[in-house]
Amino acid sequence: MIVVVGSLNMDMTVRTGRAPGPGETLLGKSFILSPGGKGGNQAVAAARLGGEVTMIGCVGQDAFGREMLEVMRGEHIDTRHIAELAEQSTGVASIVVEEDGENRIIVVPGANLALSAEDIAGMEPVISEAEVLVLQLEMDLNMVEHAAEIAHRHGVPVIMNPAPARELGAGLLSLVTILTPNETEAGLLSGITVDSVDSAREAAEILLQKGVQHVIMTLGPKGALIVNKNGAVHVPGFPVQPVDTVAAGDSFNGALAVQLAKGRTLEEAVVFANAVGALAVGKAGAVASLPYLEEVERFLEE
Ligand code: ADP
Repeated sequence: MIVVVGSLNMDMTVRTGRAPGPGETLLGKSFILSPGGKGGNQAVAAARLGGEVTMIGCVGQDAFGREMLEVMRGEHIDTRHIAELAEQSTGVASIVVEEDGENRIIVVPGANLALSAEDIAGMEPVISEAEVLVLQLEMDLNMVEHAAEIAHRHGVPVIMNPAPARELGAGLLSLVTILTPNETEAGLLSGITVDSVDSAREAAEILLQKGVQHVIMTLGPKGALIVNKNGAVHVPGFPVQPVDTVAAGDSFNGALAVQLAKGRTLEEAVVFANAVGALAVGKAGAVASLPYLEEVERFLEE
């Protein structure tokens, strides 16, 4: 079982030729409402790839929250540990996607931030049974650290996707089995500008010194870099025409979790996750772009 502790947001996505500048109003091309949030996306990604997924999180008792739960159940995700809170609104994300696929996102966390360290302590029986725990940073950081600590104590591997980019203490990083920053996040966490495979490796080495066991840095179209005590391996990405990069990182993390739960090596897992990421950027939307296992297997055979 894969346990995802994370955010559930309703994504409100506007597509536009280009994003407006300050004080400017533009006519966009389309509007889509779809369930997302890094936690939700990663849970759906893993479920579509054949993972048995349990989600821990919070939504509000509102229309968005109800729809979110319905969608999660439709993806065969165990939603019994998603709380519905009367006094909170479901998290939302305002997403602008430009013609070239570049995105700009504002998240209003709402109910997501209500999941506390105390709440997660009550989830110890669930987390301790996991084959892998998946975390991101759209939640209360103290809660995230407690979740990682529970997993660590029970020998459950922790995949931490440090997104959105936030400073993290060595305490939390030392509980992480696999850290999956993109180049920006790796830059912030290491203090090094990442703009090449060499600087990516240098940044990853710093993160290893902070106690992370393995760094898998995602490099957009260039794929990903695995760095651990055995050295560094660059696993190239698959060439595709990007439609929109929303959820590329989320699809990658969901894929990684499924592969690790299956006992694959890191290199095998990253080849698979690169294929999943490539398929996700080739399609519009967050959840809508997440591929199913058969699509990935077909893509890898081509
Ligand atoms: P994030 O979305 O978190 O910024 P990346 O942009 O690094 O993360 O993308 C995550 C993964 O998705 C990459 O490691 C790669 O496997 C895949 N990917 C992203 N962009 C592309 C692209 N243009 N072409 C092919 N694969 C891509």
